[in-house]
Amino acid sequence: MGKILLHTCCGPCSIYCTKTLKQMNIDFEILWYNINIHPYMEYVSRRDTLINLYKDTDIKVNVIDDYGLIEFTRNVVQRENARCSFCYETRLRKTAEYAKANGFTGFTTTLLISPYQNHELLKQIGEKLAKEYDLEFIYIDFRPGFRQGQQEARDLGIYMQKYCGCVYSEESRYNTPNPQKPVLPKGCEYPIRRNVCVKKIENKDDYIDLLLDADPSKTSIYKYLNDSDVYGLQVDEEIVSVAVICTISKSTLELKNLVTKEEHRGKGYAKKLLKSLCGNYKQKYNKMLVGTSENNIPFYVKQGFDKYENTIKNYFVDNYDEEIWEGDLHCTDMYYYSKDLKKK
Ligand code: SF4
Repeated sequence: MGKILLHTCCGPCSIYCTKTLKQMNIDFEILWYNINIHPYMEYVSRRDTLINLYKDTDIKVNVIDDYGLIEFTRNVVQRENARCSFCYETRLRKTAEYAKANGFTGFTTTLLISPYQNHELLKQIGEKLAKEYDLEFIYIDFRPGFRQGQQEARDLGIYMQKYCGCVYSEESRYNTPNPQKPVLPKGCEYPIRRNVCVKKIENKDDYIDLLLDADPSKTSIYKYLNDSDVYGLQVDEEIVSVAVICTISKSTLELKNLVTKEEHRGKGYAKKLLKSLCGNYKQKYNKMLVGTSENNIPFYVKQGFDKYENTIKNYFVDNYDEEIWEGDLHCTDMYYYSKDLKKK
């Protein structure tokens, strides 16, 4: 066997692999090529750890210094679950190319030491590329030495990465039921990813009880509900906020009702729903009005409804059977404000 090229993902994983190759009397050099390691400072730490680990030894480290964020992400976005296959093949293909161009007779990879990698897939890809480039793929199951190698790395005090490499793996160390997931600092919780979307609601009557929280009269609600569009903010499987939007003219809309389920209040859902609707409606409309009690004026002004339009005196007294109170405030007048939908 001639000289082989050891594709190397990082310093810690290389320790047991290089020892093994030496014990087997295999002549080899290291190749650093890992476009999967992000963000940049993580890439630099791993690259430099490897270079420094071997700088005073007889083991040569070849470096193809390609951060590769754009290439990597372009190839895995929307195929995230199949990303490792792209990741393995890209790194091993470059290794085979480099080996071929520089007189090596074969190649292998330190990825074969990790119990977290898809070992069989790595083997398959390595063998396929070896055929393609007319090289030998030196398959060695380094996995039995994984713990030993990691311990030696810790003893040497070198940088030990906390995740495989890509940002997806960085996330999954927190966001999976992996019992070995790292402990976050006190008081810090990893956010659970939620599926949030805005949905048009056709079964409007199902939301009457919720709408009553913001407008406590069925008579009032039915005056606008049938001629309005109703949208809900869905978080995972649940509609948490609802907005009712009525068209007033070719250029103007009115927000008739905006409400969030009590248990979900204070999480910014109504704001999110309103922002999304304003963003969509601005293609066709210039202005959105809202009529509100005094109490809610600051909320709407913050959402861009900052132009005062007019006041309807005693609106809540004249149009509702019962008195309406918001905390200590007796609602009497209705204040109209508007938002310029085209304003940036
Ligand atoms: S999890 Fe690891 S092997 Fe898989 S794509 Fe990310 S960096 Fe590559």
